[in-house]
Amino acid sequence: MTTRYGRQFLQIPGPSNVPDRVLRAIDQPTIDHRGPDFKEFTWGLLERVKKVFKCEDHVIIYPSSGSGAWEAALVNTLSPGDTILMVETGEFAVLWRDIAIRFGLNVDFVPGDWRHGVDPQIIEEKLKTDESQSIKAVAVVQNETSTGVTSDIFKVRQAIDAANHSALLLVDVISSLGSVDYRHSEWGVDVTIGGSQKGLMLPPGLGFNAINQKAIKASADAKLPKSYWNWSPILESNSNGFFPYTPATNLLFGLDEALNMLFEEGLDNAFARHARLAEATRRAVDTWGLENLAINPSEYSNVLTAVLLPEGHDADGLRQIILENFDMPLGTGLGKVKGKVFRIGHLGWFNELMLAGTLSGVEMGLSLSDIPFNAGGVQAALNYLIKNSG
Ligand SMILES: *Cc1c(COP(=O)(O)O)cnc(C)c1O
Repeated sequence: MTTRYGRQFLQIPGPSNVPDRVLRAIDQPTIDHRGPDFKEFTWGLLERVKKVFKCEDHVIIYPSSGSGAWEAALVNTLSPGDTILMVETGEFAVLWRDIAIRFGLNVDFVPGDWRHGVDPQIIEEKLKTDESQSIKAVAVVQNETSTGVTSDIFKVRQAIDAANHSALLLVDVISSLGSVDYRHSEWGVDVTIGGSQKGLMLPPGLGFNAINQKAIKASADAKLPKSYWNWSPILESNSNGFFPYTPATNLLFGLDEALNMLFEEGLDNAFARHARLAEATRRAVDTWGLENLAINPSEYSNVLTAVLLPEGHDADGLRQIILENFDMPLGTGLGKVKGKVFRIGHLGWFNELMLAGTLSGVEMGLSLSDIPFNAGGVQAALNYLIKNSG
């Protein structure tokens, strides 16, 4: 372990940097999760957390990683043998599919090249030809964190409606919630799957299911085995201000403070900040002469940028140079883009000067490597930030 001076520049696309305010909120004595103070706190928190999902019905909070919340969404709404339509946007879509397969669901997995988002046209066609309405759910990832591609969820909703199909819509917003516009109720999403450690600026450890009445109705007939994830006892306990088992009390304190911060800034301002910092990042990548893994500008992620290295160069080698010399972890390539891309996280508690530091670390690392690139990426990003400040 080397001696550190200053804070480590953690720029992976989750877990993201946790604000000092949130750290302080977590650093409180743990209280009785069955006592009167907790009940008051929970009622307030459950109301407020709905606002970040723009969910009118209910948000379930699990002491879990995002993967637990994925599993919860499936086991509460589906039965063995049910068909679920999923889309291969990248590694996270693959991992979610694997859970569905392990539970004996029949997955129709629309193949993808990991450089594009969900094509609503394909969803519409698949649903239109499903005359017996055997597809019970459509499951997509809003921000594919392995590729830096964001899909248009409202268009997926419109595709389902255009096909006049009754399938549930399940959406993973684990990396995008709090960073990119999202509207659970307005977009007619039935289950939204969230996590704490990305746009929500918390440490890992909370999973979310935002649900609507259609999802709750589906859960009454869903036959997949479940216990810990079962919505029903949680909903009942929540209505009394409690949880059926010990919640992550101190992370809930942190969540309350993270919500304070997001609402003080205003969600729209937070989204605009992410868009500005993401665009500055892309200007740097362009100037370096490197390629964004995302192909369509309309699908560029404001959460992270996955940078594709020229053939024959190892992205993990570059990450190692940057980590060893400048103490900055960047996101590794996941799944089939391992070694080909590195990922710059620009999400959550993040500002102009943090971005300048991040891009400086990348540009210095490129200089120390044998990767061909053009200098001046940092300056291009700064120029964009100067023009778009205030
Ligand atoms: C991080 C992530 C997950 C997995 O969350 P864990 O907390 O690691 O289980 C799932 N989906 C997306 C889009 C993610 O970014």
